[in-house]
Amino acid sequence: MAQAKKALNKNGKKNSRTGARAARPSVKTYTNYINGEWVASSGGETFENVNPADTREVIGRFPLSTAEDMDRAVEAARNAFDRWRRVPAPRRAEILFRLGEILIRDKDRLSSEMTREMGKVLRETGGDVQEAIDCTYYTAGEGRRLHGFTTPAEMPNKFAMCVRQPVGLCGLITPWNFPMAIPSWKIIPALVCGNTLVIKPAEDTPLSTYNLIKACEEAGIPPGVVNMVTGYGETVGAALTDNPAVRLISFTGSTETGRVVASRCADRNAICSLEMGGKNVIIVLEDADIDLAIEGAVWGAFGTSGQRCTASSRLVVHKKVYKKFTQKLVARAQSLRVGNGLDAKTEMGPVINADAVHKILGYVEIGEREDGATLACGGRRLDSGEHARGYFIEPTVFTDAAPGMRISQEEIFGPVTTVIPANSLENAIEIGNGVRYGLSASIYTQDVNRAFHAMNEMYTGIFYVNSSTIGAEVHLPFGGTKATGNGHREAGTQVLDIFSEWKSIYVDYSGKLQRAQIDEVNL
Ligand code: NDP
Repeated sequence: MAQAKKALNKNGKKNSRTGARAARPSVKTYTNYINGEWVASSGGETFENVNPADTREVIGRFPLSTAEDMDRAVEAARNAFDRWRRVPAPRRAEILFRLGEILIRDKDRLSSEMTREMGKVLRETGGDVQEAIDCTYYTAGEGRRLHGFTTPAEMPNKFAMCVRQPVGLCGLITPWNFPMAIPSWKIIPALVCGNTLVIKPAEDTPLSTYNLIKACEEAGIPPGVVNMVTGYGETVGAALTDNPAVRLISFTGSTETGRVVASRCADRNAICSLEMGGKNVIIVLEDADIDLAIEGAVWGAFGTSGQRCTASSRLVVHKKVYKKFTQKLVARAQSLRVGNGLDAKTEMGPVINADAVHKILGYVEIGEREDGATLACGGRRLDSGEHARGYFIEPTVFTDAAPGMRISQEEIFGPVTTVIPANSLENAIEIGNGVRYGLSASIYTQDVNRAFHAMNEMYTGIFYVNSSTIGAEVHLPFGGTKATGNGHREAGTQVLDIFSEWKSIYVDYSGKLQRAQIDEVNL
């Protein structure tokens, strides 16, 4: 029932079951990857993956999988675990280096297929694939490190050390906005640490994850170690989360879904790492290089059509430069070329689906009517000419917003940014921190003292100086505070703490019983 309801609700880009549209013989039907085999869903049903820039184009049909399919994938991953965890980490890493080579070889094709399935411009999908490549090389390098440590024991003739061990079977649940980068952030560290896994990609972008899994197969990852099941979150996502054999769920998505996933994990004492929403802020002080700040704001607010967890959705601008900043921002936003991301001239692509259009335009209405901010530009759907078949929305700027307004507080996840005036650095910091999320923040200023002060005071997981809120690199930890996360960090070496557990080992070679905390040590 849930599936049928969702198929009706989505009403646009996705989720038509097989047969709902006229037969399209040329459209490829994809399969799940379970235990090293490509298999259809046990129910035989599929959903369509549609190009959001032109909904006439069906990219492919993907399995509308059942809980039973998910259980099979989990079983395969469980059976593969003991063999995989015993493969020495440097050997596991060698396979992953091969995976990196395959992604480099196929980068152009993978990028254009990603643009077709989720809309962002080619330059950005190239960045998405590149991030997967970077993650693969960087994290595979950990196969020859995965450092533990030794430390003195408190008793004589006793040796103490700590090593990492794999967690076990990992369930990975990913969103659609970085459909290869985010799966790679989870798959690669999970594998290098010796875990097996099942991934459930977002229903809007299964192709890019399929491509990544196909590359894993080609690289030589043994059957059962990596498994992929496509379908709806409420069915296969929930089946993965609830399966008692799954020791860890690594989730990236909205804060609302993350909360559901976390509570289900808590019910069965599963480990749970969450990367969730954001309402990120750029602070522009009166001494900022305004043109540089405009470039950063436009890139941060409208890159990926504003559909990044780190999008610059709030611009807090000192009142002394407020007018100049907003005028330039609006002019730049109005000049952005919106269109199909495959066209090299396009600067901003469509949003992901009909639901997103509805939600974003709903926020435009809230901003104007309920909140009373000024709609300085944009705010409409583009639906004629070259835009007639896609989900295009104008780059939208609200000015004169107050910090407490809904458009200043809630994650819109579209090409909408809100400019809020500030009286001082302290006032800007207070506004910046005054949301429930804590992912990314940035400041534009020429004053190093004020930059450091803001860096210290902003309670976010990521902070930039004279740069936008987007642009994370894979060798630094990524994640957020407050409603953005639950204390974990992906990327960097910190991600190893998600996908491995510490084992403390004591080796007593004294030949006698030594009781820590009790026996006196002779000096
Ligand atoms: P959703 O929360 O809607 O979905 C995320 C994933 O969870 C999807 O695979 C979805 O499946 C699945 N899911 C949905 N319901 C359940 C359930 N009951 N049990 C298990 N899994 C479920 O997020 P979006 O895909 O719309 O992504 C956008 C959100 O992701 C934004 O809030 C954004 O900020 C956040 N995000 C956070 C990042 C970070 O690192 N902090 C990075 C990127 C995005 P299905 O697709 O079938 O619904």
